Amino acid sequence: MRRDIKSMNEEEIAAELRELGESAFRGKQIFSWLHRGAVSFDGMTNLSKPLREKLKEYYYITVPAVERKLISRIDGTVKYLWRLHDGNCIETVLMKYRHGNSVCISTEVGCKMGCAFCASTQAGFVRRLEPSEILDQVLFTQLDSGEPVSHIVLMGIGEPLDNYDNVMKFLALVNHPDGMNIGMRHISLSTCGLVEQIDRLASSNLQLTLSVSLHAPDDETRSRLLPINRTWGVAALLRSCRSYFERTGRRISFEYALIDGVNDSDAQAELLAKLLRGMPAHVNLIGLNHIAESPLQPSRRMAAFQKKLEQRGVAVTVRRRLGSDIDAACGQLRRSMLQEERKEQQVKKQ
Ligand code: SAH
Repeated sequence: MRRDIKSMNEEEIAAELRELGESAFRGKQIFSWLHRGAVSFDGMTNLSKPLREKLKEYYYITVPAVERKLISRIDGTVKYLWRLHDGNCIETVLMKYRHGNSVCISTEVGCKMGCAFCASTQAGFVRRLEPSEILDQVLFTQLDSGEPVSHIVLMGIGEPLDNYDNVMKFLALVNHPDGMNIGMRHISLSTCGLVEQIDRLASSNLQLTLSVSLHAPDDETRSRLLPINRTWGVAALLRSCRSYFERTGRRISFEYALIDGVNDSDAQAELLAKLLRGMPAHVNLIGLNHIAESPLQPSRRMAAFQKKLEQRGVAVTVRRRLGSDIDAACGQLRRSMLQEERKEQQVKKQ
């Protein structure tokens, strides 16, 4: 059974080479080839032919294929649907900002979190992504688009903290000076609120930005929208966020998608402000992206809600919507692909 060499860090590759009777410093060379996007061992021209043959025998290199690529005419946002080696598809979005290019990447194929408004979870969970498959999204988006990537947001398909070990490994890989060397302060990780894993993340003391998908300040509303809230309610989540800040010194960003008549009242804005009092936090208001499976509609009270929070001293921004002409919201492209495949299968059966 060949193994996934791109999921290994430099030390692990060096150790493997030692076992193969090769000099360990080749590890650094191989690592840097992989992180520049080498798609085969044959291309690693500073390695001997016999070593390349040996590597082929023991390892494989993951290479996602571009299944679909959409470019927004409005703002140049690029959306990729990648086909993985086992046939599964995931999405990545490249967004262009004044401060640099940012990629929004997936961490799982599908999602098991079941949030009521989210397209990624509708068809359920398939599997976790390997560190290499998470990294490939950054690497091949940069190579395919020709745009240098400076920022990463883990806000695509899946729940990053449900794939904790692979995500941590990915972060170390992408941050490595011999690799893409993207700084932790340029990386944001978004979670729907897995409290135990937030605590674990706090103890690793990484300088990344933690985004928490809050979406409601009260348990009743939040449990309706995010089933995870039935395991860890708002109070437990906020307690964990406070201690995250105390441990890491990093201000937390709270995401709040405004939904018509569900979480957009003045009373909820006030409750939210109360919840965040005395805590260095930032609220990111998002216009809900309506999905066909759900009756939930975007709120018309964005400005009023924002104002209420500001009056209560909360730092708040409204997320700019990019790529609205290409369905850039997470999970939508993969979902339409799955629907098409299902239709094709039905036609074949008939
Ligand atoms: N599982 C992680 C990361 C993926 S979702 C999390 O829940 O945070 C990234 C963000 O998009 C989350 O804040 C999520 O709640 C939000 N989101 C998902 N579907 C949305 C929709 N239809 N409209 C607006 N925001 C949405």
